Amino acid sequence: MKILFVLLFCYTQYLNAAESDLTLTNGKYTNLSAGSQYLSDNNFGIVDVLSLPQNHWSTNSVNNFNLGYTDQTFWVKVDFVLPNNNRTYLIEIAYPVLDSLKLYLMQEDDVLSYAKLGDKQRFNDRLIKHHNFILPIKKEVNGPLSLYIQVESTSAVQLPIRLWEQAEFYETDQLNTLFLGIYFGLMSIMVIYNIFMYVSLKDETFLYYVVYVSAIIAFYFSLSGLAFRYLWQESLWWNDQSILFFLVAAVLAGTFFIIKLLELQKNSLILYRGCLVISLIGICLLFASMYFTYGTMIRVIILYASVACAWGVITRTVKLFEGTHFSTYYSLAWNAALCGGLILAANKLNFLPNNWFTEHALTIGTSIEVACLSFAMAERINSERRKRFVAQARSMTEIRKANQRLESEVINRTKELQTAYDKLKHISRIDELTQIFNRRSLNDALNTECLRAKRFGHSVSLLMIDIDHFKKINDTYGHQCGDKCIAHIADVLKNTCTRAGDVIARYGGEEFCILLPECNEGDAFELAEQVRKHTEASLVRFENSVIKLTVSIGIATRWGVDLEPHQLVKQSDMALYFAKQHGRNQVSLGSVLDT
Ligand code: GH3
Ligand code: MG
Ligand code: MG
Repeated sequence: MKILFVLLFCYTQYLNAAESDLTLTNGKYTNLSAGSQYLSDNNFGIVDVLSLPQNHWSTNSVNNFNLGYTDQTFWVKVDFVLPNNNRTYLIEIAYPVLDSLKLYLMQEDDVLSYAKLGDKQRFNDRLIKHHNFILPIKKEVNGPLSLYIQVESTSAVQLPIRLWEQAEFYETDQLNTLFLGIYFGLMSIMVIYNIFMYVSLKDETFLYYVVYVSAIIAFYFSLSGLAFRYLWQESLWWNDQSILFFLVAAVLAGTFFIIKLLELQKNSLILYRGCLVISLIGICLLFASMYFTYGTMIRVIILYASVACAWGVITRTVKLFEGTHFSTYYSLAWNAALCGGLILAANKLNFLPNNWFTEHALTIGTSIEVACLSFAMAERINSERRKRFVAQARSMTEIRKANQRLESEVINRTKELQTAYDKLKHISRIDELTQIFNRRSLNDALNTECLRAKRFGHSVSLLMIDIDHFKKINDTYGHQCGDKCIAHIADVLKNTCTRAGDVIARYGGEEFCILLPECNEGDAFELAEQVRKHTEASLVRFENSVIKLTVSIGIATRWGVDLEPHQLVKQSDMALYFAKQHGRNQVSLGSVLDT
């Protein structure tokens, strides 16, 4: 659609321009190609041509003179009138790749000027050092003139013949040079910038892009005759081959660039393979362009470039990359280059007028293309970065979730461990049957309390309690009943001995201890008596039986240097033994035994 619009615009321009060109003016120069006459050369010299009757000549009825690719030599004739205004004029042939030109400026039968030009002549042999071919006209010449040109070229035989007023020519040439300077400057900046991008990012896409743009610059530099003018004035062979070489190089690098940019190997195998075939042919043509002549190769290479462009268009059209900024830039780049190429081609084929815009359409198109492709690459990097960010954010969320899971698992495990630890601690310190302290806890408490009492000069009492005739209960009612009795006595002890700091423990079997810190013998005796009485007063019910229990209690009270845990135990045990000996259900004092 865009292309059509541009073509339509140019065509309307063409209609306007065509009319004015026939009045021999195109703004600043007079287009002599329009209305020129030509004939195929049969080894004619200028003398033969001058004597030929008018009906041998064919008239060129369009603005541009273009006979396309041909092996023939042509003679071209233009008649025009120079005003007598004392100004200097010159003739420009604005197609710098023509091989051989012989220009004769005639007035009636006199040759006023003659020049042998073409890029098969050394550049330094040119009368006027310009990348196009220039024939100056002497100042004093005026009136009706005829220009005869013998032209021969392996390139397309195009003859844009322009008659300039000299001052106008140089003025316009300066502008054109400025424009080309901007163009090559812009393209070179792209090259340098992308070299830096490649060095810092190490992404091959940039490298192909750099080669692609460099090849376009080189191709255009050769095609415009500037390379011949500035770089290889003496290399006539290379001047021809360079155009072929750089055109193929541009297509080749462009193809590799597209493969990388659009990641075709990953995204579309068919497009990728097509590009590989184009690349392979390109490599062959690159070598061929160095061995075969321009005339042989140019048609093949133009066909090759057209197929490669068509493949590029197909690649663009395949809806792989839609919906991203990246694809927009990429499409824009292709459209710009394509429009430029089409407009230039239409200009050369006489479908469009020859004006500044149509002449520079490809230059403008490739500039836009190169800029857009650069944006496309930047956007690709951007979109990759965005994808990386999303992936990173996703993995961060995953990590956060995993951490949360881990944390709650650790909390649960810690709780479980704490519970297990508490349980273990409980098991290791508490007697299972009676739920009072066990022997280990009693030993710990005994050690601690004895040390403390020694330090503060207190006394410590220990009650050793044993159930009387317990064996009999076991034997009579069974061990379950015995267990119940043991638990009952533990309850009696807990209920009787309620003072904080006292330690009630099961010593073993049906024997218990009560450790009384800071407690004298009298108080210990009183407590022991209460225990004994409460036991005697209580009943144990088991199944249908009611059992009465009694306990015997031995008391040891010690202080000062004598206060050692084993002595307390020993003394209370002896007192208990004494109580047992003396009838049971009684309390006896260890101190009495000592005396
Ligand atoms: P004495 O009045 O002289 O203390 O007589 P006794 O029968 O209580 O004598 P002894 O201390 O020899 O007997 C203790 C018995 O307690 C022996 C054992 O079978 C029993 N026994 C020890 N531990 C337990 C226990 O945890 N449960 C039960 N049911 N019986 C136990
Ligand atoms: Mg007993
Ligand atoms: Mg016992």
